[in-house]
Amino acid sequence: MTEEELKQFKAALSITKVAVDLGIPVVRNRCRCFFPTRHSHGDRTPSVSFSEERGTFRCWVCDDVRGDVISLVQIVKNCSFLEALNWLKETYGFLVPGVKMPMQNYAAAPNISPANAPAPVHTPAQNASLVAKVAVREAALEYHSPEPAKELVSEDERKKIILSFLKMLSPVDRTPAAAYLARRRIHKPIWDKMLLRTITDYGMLNNKLKDTYDLEVLKYVGLFNEKGNLRYYKHPLFFPYLDAKRRSFYFQARAIDSSVVPKELNLRGTVPYPYNVSVLDQKPGWVYLCEGVIDTLTFLGQNIAAIGIPGVRSFKTEWLPLFKNKNVMLCLDKDEAGRSGTEYLQSVFEQAGIRTIVLGEGLENLNFSMKEGDDINSWFGGKK
Ligand SMILES: [Zn+2]
Repeated sequence: MTEEELKQFKAALSITKVAVDLGIPVVRNRCRCFFPTRHSHGDRTPSVSFSEERGTFRCWVCDDVRGDVISLVQIVKNCSFLEALNWLKETYGFLVPGVKMPMQNYAAAPNISPANAPAPVHTPAQNASLVAKVAVREAALEYHSPEPAKELVSEDERKKIILSFLKMLSPVDRTPAAAYLARRRIHKPIWDKMLLRTITDYGMLNNKLKDTYDLEVLKYVGLFNEKGNLRYYKHPLFFPYLDAKRRSFYFQARAIDSSVVPKELNLRGTVPYPYNVSVLDQKPGWVYLCEGVIDTLTFLGQNIAAIGIPGVRSFKTEWLPLFKNKNVMLCLDKDEAGRSGTEYLQSVFEQAGIRTIVLGEGLENLNFSMKEGDDINSWFGGKK
């Protein structure tokens, strides 16, 4: 490729499209920094912006995170200039000057000339669904009600209230939550082991809490919304984050009606540790790291030692000491967001000297490997 051809090729590429194809959620020309640990709060408010006009990107905090579409690929895939260019040529081959578009693409898009044809990796509908999926995941992770100005109750008191709230909930047996779990092939031994809970009578629980605690305190600890009601009206299934002593001061609530968005509501505040953290017992062995509680429970049902992180970008580097003596099998969703999360975790664990393997890597052509769009639960036969 001559310098002129390279210039043409770069000009034909949409940098945001390439970013999305690399698995980066780009919203309104912005995304989170690829080095979230350099930022406060893991770069919750995205610092990297894209200029479609100039074909460039830059992080407003990290001086070395900037450049053109090729540097973008280099950073995200951690590869050389030449490897990045080759990846772009392979992925967007029809945009390379002088290359003819394959016949089947002509048939599908007869009015588009090769020079300005869209990249074939995703249709706009697939892109939209990817962005929507990522947005929903992020929304679930980022929930926090406005912080009250002063500390209404001490941290110890807050923990006690969360603990007593979880004790007011019912076991899932013979409830709609049980049917929801059973459809995902998660059965009673696991419900009991992980102390899964549900709300059977929302009105009664709402009143009981208001009778027991001051409303401002209930809002402060994040159980009640601004209107003064228990937040979990549409999210009746509870996954307590048990510690090694089987207590929990943190939980995730889940909708069992698939039309509810977001499908998960985390308790306000930071996730203290991964789900099922007691597996990280500092003894030598493997641990399967997956995305979300449902996938973790699916593995536990197979007697596989698994932990869950709430979302692909929610892993905290301060958790790394918990992984002492462990090897990690990375089992994120088989989709763009899962792949980019996997690459991120590979580099984080590698820097900490912890060995990782990606589930199914090298077995892609076998019949039992995960298909595009699969998560662990669907792979084991769970129904949505
Ligand atoms: Zn940055």
